[in-house]
Amino acid sequence: LREHDAVIENQITVCVRKRPLNEKEDRRKEVDVITVNTRNQLIVHEPKHKVDLTKYLENQHFRFDYVFDETCTNDIVYKFTARPLVKTIFEGGMATCFAYGQTGSGKTHTMGGEFKGRQQNFKNGIYGLVAMDVFKYLNCPKQSKMNYIVSASFFEIYGKLVFDLLAKKQRLRVLEDGKQQVQVVGLTEKIVTKVEDVLELIQKGSLERTSGQTSANSNSSRSHAVFQIILRKAGSRNVEGKFSLIDLAGNERGADNNKSNRQTRIEGADINKSLLALKECIRALGRRGAHLPFRGSKLTQVLRDSFIGEKSRTCMIALISPGNYSVDHSLNTLRYADRVKEL
Ligand code: ADP
Ligand code: MG
Repeated sequence: LREHDAVIENQITVCVRKRPLNEKEDRRKEVDVITVNTRNQLIVHEPKHKVDLTKYLENQHFRFDYVFDETCTNDIVYKFTARPLVKTIFEGGMATCFAYGQTGSGKTHTMGGEFKGRQQNFKNGIYGLVAMDVFKYLNCPKQSKMNYIVSASFFEIYGKLVFDLLAKKQRLRVLEDGKQQVQVVGLTEKIVTKVEDVLELIQKGSLERTSGQTSANSNSSRSHAVFQIILRKAGSRNVEGKFSLIDLAGNERGADNNKSNRQTRIEGADINKSLLALKECIRALGRRGAHLPFRGSKLTQVLRDSFIGEKSRTCMIALISPGNYSVDHSLNTLRYADRVKEL
């Protein structure tokens, strides 16, 4: 994979990343049930038993645009997923990259950056890598006569509520005007002039997102985090291009709708609804004239402008845990990702 150059020109790219088994899984003697076969194929070995209780493995094959195994770094994943989309926002299009998967599968690691203990290296997450390339693009001689203003925002969608991660989780309202323009009212949008400015915002918002949480009862696994880099021509209020990077709620939370706790049940239903609406909106991007069910959830509503326009491009990175205890969740994730891609 390292030798290949990213040549993704599709409007929709769907990739899968498998993380290594972690210490906890090792201690539980879990086994790795995912094999990455080629650079776009993987096999799930699902443990099953026959009626006489003898055990066997059922192999299921999946094919995606790219599949990253446990040896791939964030840099490599970035190179084949979000990086090819950076130029889109300089060509008047919207770029979007989603991290989808169960809690603990590596969404925040991929989007925000690798963890070293509790610290996160924001420079090697997809948020930071996109920021770096946006400024590289701006500073290249061909672009210099174009005067762009770059800004960034970071918010969280929790059920039907939206919170500003750059303003102490202030609650925000979402309004839609007569022309179907959707606006998050009062959302902080900070002007940035260099990569370091962006990294500071990523750090601030990421800490805000996880503040006051214990990992055992993590709210961040029930919310979608949306980080955006926005491009305007100097002197204009119109958005020229926008890169939205989304760390989605854990997809297993969507199944929380049979839990006894009422709040958890409602949250589960909201997550489920938003992930289904998201799938349909992405699929509609690849089909001209398709119905866009963006009002189906807060997430798709605020991302509406990313799902329209021939120049818009989307990438989904589906994250999977390799262990046998996670195989049902991994299969759910892979089937969802498969449906996104299927035309
Ligand atoms: P999620 O956001 O999907 O709930 P995280 O990104 O928080 O999951 O990852 C869970 C744990 O697994 C973290 O400790 C993270 O450092 C680790 N991890 C995730 N992906 C990888 C990877 N590709 N390589 C090594 N460790 C990883
Ligand atoms: Mg996370």
